[in-house]
Amino acid sequence: MKVLVVNCGSSSVKYSLFDMENQQKIAWGLVECIGLEEAFYKRQTLTVPQVKTSCKVANHFEAVQIIIKDLLDEKTGSIKDIKEIAVIGHRVVHGGYKFSKPVLVNEQVKKDLKECYSIAPLHTPHHYAGIEAVEKMLPGIPSVLVFDTAFHQTMPDYAYRYAIPSEYYEQDHVRRYGMHGTSHKYVTQKAAAMLNIPVDKVNLITCHLGNGSSITAIKNGKVIDTSMGFTPLAGLVMGTRCGDIDPAVIVHILAKYPKMTSDQLNNLLNKQSGVAAVSGIAGGDMREVEDAMLAGDKKAELAFNMLCYSGKKYLCAYYGILNGIDGIVFTAGIGENSPLTRAKICEGLDNLGIKIDKALNEPRSSKERFISASDSKIKVMVIPTNEELMIARESLEVLNKK
Ligand code: ADP
Repeated sequence: MKVLVVNCGSSSVKYSLFDMENQQKIAWGLVECIGLEEAFYKRQTLTVPQVKTSCKVANHFEAVQIIIKDLLDEKTGSIKDIKEIAVIGHRVVHGGYKFSKPVLVNEQVKKDLKECYSIAPLHTPHHYAGIEAVEKMLPGIPSVLVFDTAFHQTMPDYAYRYAIPSEYYEQDHVRRYGMHGTSHKYVTQKAAAMLNIPVDKVNLITCHLGNGSSITAIKNGKVIDTSMGFTPLAGLVMGTRCGDIDPAVIVHILAKYPKMTSDQLNNLLNKQSGVAAVSGIAGGDMREVEDAMLAGDKKAELAFNMLCYSGKKYLCAYYGILNGIDGIVFTAGIGENSPLTRAKICEGLDNLGIKIDKALNEPRSSKERFISASDSKIKVMVIPTNEELMIARESLEVLNKK
């Protein structure tokens, strides 16, 4: 039984095809630069190494068309008939106030998704285009939406509400939603297995540190708080996002530069801030930041310290509210691959029973492993995330319940 996972961004469509008998990814790739002069199609299978071709792709429908044709290719394809695909799982960044768990797509669901456009205008319209494209290309195959916000729906009201007038919550649905839920859920299940604790008994702090970063407090396998908020802008200092700042800073900027539009402000806070802004390294790529810091660049060092300090603050806050944890998980690009970041975040926390073993932490390898010292009360783990596999599993689960 095969599941196709699709992730439609503003100018790209990523896909992974899983064989669910052994939960193995058998084909994957992406079409990028959709709508630009030149687009690219990168694809790979278990047996065919990566091939990159340039093409012209006007919209998401054409991108999905290329992918499906390729999957069906007589020589290099991975399926002979679209009926081999049991279900398509779509990654959706924001479920807004309409969706709290994965759902099978029908007309009502599509209508509800459209109503959530205003909460995540940069993502949801592209997801919608992808859903419609897949429906056309794979008629009769059910689609499931898996939301990045869903795993966080168990937060108590005192954690998800903002202390602003209630009408903004009641009418405009302004509250903390949290993101990266699929990743936090995947590593929670993995960590529980590594610790040999049933998932519904495990208490963890999961640190998803990538270009976008979020930290989540897990009590008995469920989310009780998370660092991202109404949007992914809140929480830690990130690659190009500012993370938590005093909201009055925004009021101040708007008062000082009254011609600034909401789009420009959004761009400033989401794309021109964070590690990139502080270090001066475009994009805020952590590998470049670390290299510059190790070569003595003070601005890079400050950016690195700010990211790690913001992570440490969330780690310690959640340690307190959880009142005891079984483990800490590091995942995603930085969490899996940066020993320096992991060491810095956990530095000086031995009083809390958190001690990293230098030799276990040191290799720049994303291999799943424990990195805590033998006398550390709290187990610290590196777990490579696998959001696509989680989406495939959840999509199949929804299909089986149907
Ligand atoms: P996204 O949020 O886009 O999914 P990723 O999870 O892929 O991001 O993480 C990207 C980040 O991980 C980048 O900042 C990148 O520099 C960082 N990263 C990847 N490999 C390493 C490494 N070996 N050392 C330090 N940082 C790394």
